[in-house]
Amino acid sequence: MTFRAKIFISQLVLFILFILILFPFVETAITRIVHQSLQECLDSAAASHSQVKDLIHHFQAGFLIFSFLVLLIFSAMTWFIFNRLSSPIQKIIKTIKPYQEGKVEQIPQIPIKEAKAKDDFSKLALTINSLSERIQKHIHNLTEERNEKEAILESLVEGVTAVDAALNVRYVNFACSKFLGFPKRHLLGKPFPTEPSTPLLDKAKQLLTLSQERQSVLTDSLSIGKLYFDLIAAPIASGNGAILVLQDKSSNYKVLEMGKDFVANASHELRTPITIINGFAETLQDLPEISHEMLAEITEKIVRNCERMENLVKNLLTLADIENLPKTRFRISDLISIAENCRHILLSFYPEAQVEIVKNKPSIEISADPDLLELAIMNLLNNGAKYSKAPAHITINIQSTDDEVKISICDEGIGIPATDLEHIFERFYTVDKARSRRLGGAGLGLSIVKTIVQKHDGTISVESTVGKGTCFTMTLPI
Ligand code: ADP
Repeated sequence: MTFRAKIFISQLVLFILFILILFPFVETAITRIVHQSLQECLDSAAASHSQVKDLIHHFQAGFLIFSFLVLLIFSAMTWFIFNRLSSPIQKIIKTIKPYQEGKVEQIPQIPIKEAKAKDDFSKLALTINSLSERIQKHIHNLTEERNEKEAILESLVEGVTAVDAALNVRYVNFACSKFLGFPKRHLLGKPFPTEPSTPLLDKAKQLLTLSQERQSVLTDSLSIGKLYFDLIAAPIASGNGAILVLQDKSSNYKVLEMGKDFVANASHELRTPITIINGFAETLQDLPEISHEMLAEITEKIVRNCERMENLVKNLLTLADIENLPKTRFRISDLISIAENCRHILLSFYPEAQVEIVKNKPSIEISADPDLLELAIMNLLNNGAKYSKAPAHITINIQSTDDEVKISICDEGIGIPATDLEHIFERFYTVDKARSRRLGGAGLGLSIVKTIVQKHDGTISVESTVGKGTCFTMTLPI
């Protein structure tokens, strides 16, 4: 039933009630007055004037009480009817109130009785329910969108921060808080930090202010020790604040530095034998009548240095080759056969060396470049023999599990001092330069091994005790 119909019916009911209640009283009162007046007329002078007055007063008092009672009943009924009519609205307000007061996250659904589904209030409740559903959906979509964007920004390696016109931090991602050196909670909603003053904070604040003033994108870079940053500041489109992007370029510069070091080291290593060869060649030129023994000694030195150069160039080419190794060169290879082959090669150079192979399976197959794995094992075996007192004792231990294989090459040689261990895989690093040169090495062997292992998604570690021996362990995925 519609609201208007309810009001109309209730008014009608009230009106009928009023008439029904009023009618007997009015009828009695009129009857009594008429009766009394008639009686008085019949008694003529018998009744006094004061009696008539009393009668009228009684009638007035009775009528007043009657009117008051009618009014009271009418008010009570009106209150009752309107209370009944407004109860659905109260119900709606009561249901929504917890959301309005922030006690619940979602707008609660207003319960609607099936039988009353067609009245105005149920329609209102239905409209509010569907509206709240739409709002909820909208809020959900917006939250998802915001979370997605935040997740993207959080996963960036670049630092990102947004400030408002008064330079209060409105957003900062993890990378940025790390670069600036403040936890996120110390930045969000607070003025952009200036204390303690650091070159990065100063430069960032300066760029954020300038980009807002000029309403243009500004870029700059900064180097602090071994750290290099690129900074980009851009005004927010609405003209209310700015965004700053911090890019850590340290690794790029490190690669550049490493490249420079590599070229310097390689040139130095090549220049040394060239100088020696040049020196001996000039001696030969200056001494045409040289003794046979001296000639043999000089030519032997020239040949050795040529070999050293050739070795160095070969190693440099190998390194460049491994860096560009395509996965297509990988094939299923048996590690045990490779290790046995390496053992034979080593024994051909060091016939008195003792090389033992320990394995937990007769054959262990992995996807790898077999030539490179052979080169890695050979380099480690060669070092084991080179840096041991003859005859060298070397153990190749190959243990495989379901998902990886560990290949340890352990010797009982001179060992490596603890201070050198962390640098041992760096290119051109040698513990004892003179000894390495004498043995024909230039500090490239282990960096070749490490690059090969990394290309196979593996790791390499070393344990060593001076005077007792060294153990290199390669771990490769199966
Ligand atoms: P090199 O060609 O000089 O041998 P490597 O890169 O193979 O270069 O090794 C770097 C340095 O590590 C060597 O100069 C040597 O001092 C040390 N080294 C490597 N392997 C061993 C080992 N098994 N025992 C002792 N020292 C080792």
